[in-house]
Amino acid sequence: MSDNAQAIWSAAQQTLRGMLKTELYNLWFAPVSASRMDGDVLTLEVADEFCEFWLKDNYLDVLRSVVSRTAVRPVQIAFAVRAAESAGSTASGTANSAESTEASSTPLAPIPSPVAKEPSTRRPEAFFNPNNVFDTFVVGSNNHHAHAASVAVAQKPGLTYNPLFLFGGVGLGKTHLLQAIGQHVHAHRRNARIGYLSCERFTNEFIEALQNGQLPKFRKKYRELDVLLIDDVQFLAGKERIQEEFFHTFNALHDCHKQIVLTCDRPANEIQGLEQRLTSRFEWGMTADLKAPDVETRLAILHKKAAALSVELPPEIISFLANRIRTNIRRLEGALVRVAAYAQLTGKSLDLETIETLLREILQEEGKVAISIGEIQRRVADYFDIRLADMTSKRRPENIAFPRQIAMYLARQLTDHSLSSIGDAFGGRDHGTVLHACRQVRDRMEVESKVRQDVGYLEKQLTR
Ligand code: ADP
Ligand code: MG
Repeated sequence: MSDNAQAIWSAAQQTLRGMLKTELYNLWFAPVSASRMDGDVLTLEVADEFCEFWLKDNYLDVLRSVVSRTAVRPVQIAFAVRAAESAGSTASGTANSAESTEASSTPLAPIPSPVAKEPSTRRPEAFFNPNNVFDTFVVGSNNHHAHAASVAVAQKPGLTYNPLFLFGGVGLGKTHLLQAIGQHVHAHRRNARIGYLSCERFTNEFIEALQNGQLPKFRKKYRELDVLLIDDVQFLAGKERIQEEFFHTFNALHDCHKQIVLTCDRPANEIQGLEQRLTSRFEWGMTADLKAPDVETRLAILHKKAAALSVELPPEIISFLANRIRTNIRRLEGALVRVAAYAQLTGKSLDLETIETLLREILQEEGKVAISIGEIQRRVADYFDIRLADMTSKRRPENIAFPRQIAMYLARQLTDHSLSSIGDAFGGRDHGTVLHACRQVRDRMEVESKVRQDVGYLEKQLTR
């Protein structure tokens, strides 16, 4: 362990301890140690991948600024994961070491599992973020349906909606609700076997099991759960083998009335390259979407989060944040944490100009509309009265081909997707086709007022 790294980190810990609620500090920051300082990069060692993600998601900015202030120069933060301290955690306890841990001298105390508040003979199968519970979830018109369905499922797993399929854009609370369901079930049914994991992880475990000849074990593990919570099932797109496996897991659980909850960044029928039998199963139970929050909900979220961080911000700053960050709650939270950390570290009163500078990148990101290609395709197909399937089909009559090109153009204008991923979403076309479509639409907008009107109208509708 490098003395320098440890000295900086210990001092930074003191500051963090003063800034954060004790419980929060003890749970997430106290067990972290520093392993080395390479140039401007301080490497922090955490117990598992989940801690790494959680710290990165929620506190990277704060860590960076506290450590930089301590070291009196800009410092970047890197993470290294120690080998998992115990085997047998169903969901996420088997993080592999991302970096070597030979530098460690004393073993890191295991982070207490956030949900196991009292000694229990059963270790919960999944790690959950303690913030992702129903109590901290702000219900608004954008998410009340998804929230109500999640509560119903959490109260009576397997008996109400099965599966529950939650979908919506990035940062709108899908993972939060999924984990809230898991934590609620765990708190009320100590013996329930809960599996919570990302679809990507499910895939990786499957591949590993396949390679190591451990498929029976893998299957037993997932087919004997009481509740299976899978995040981001859009990851199944185009992966036939894992779809097959998932299909059987799904059936085994569903047949036994075990609860399944899935999240996705789009409706099931818009996952390109998903087998029909899975699409239809995903729609069997209840589907509920999460939309971007309205301004009242954004204000309520900010007030709640500020209270949780124990910061008081002037009303004009809260309303500035609520008005400027509309499409992504994670971003809204990130902005709040940044502003709060700045206020606490500098002790200065904040004016809007400072905030604008502080949040420049976040506000720039926000400028790009969070909108999915699927949504664009749907609106364009509706508007021109063609079938959604024609957005991805090879049919070429002008009354279909041109709307398709308009949709590609809008996807290019309104999303962050690359040309080739837009091409993929339009039935596997290549990036040259998308580029050509964009040019075509632009050229015609120059000379045809009707095209200008159509595109202008759609753009406005989509970004409203
Ligand atoms: P997604 O999985 O949809 O991308 P997350 O569930 O990770 O989004 O949410 C992003 C962040 O916003 C999380 O920190 C989450 O706690 C917070 N969040 C989302 N929706 C709400 C809400 N309605 N109330 C409070 N916090 C929310
Ligand atoms: Mg998520």
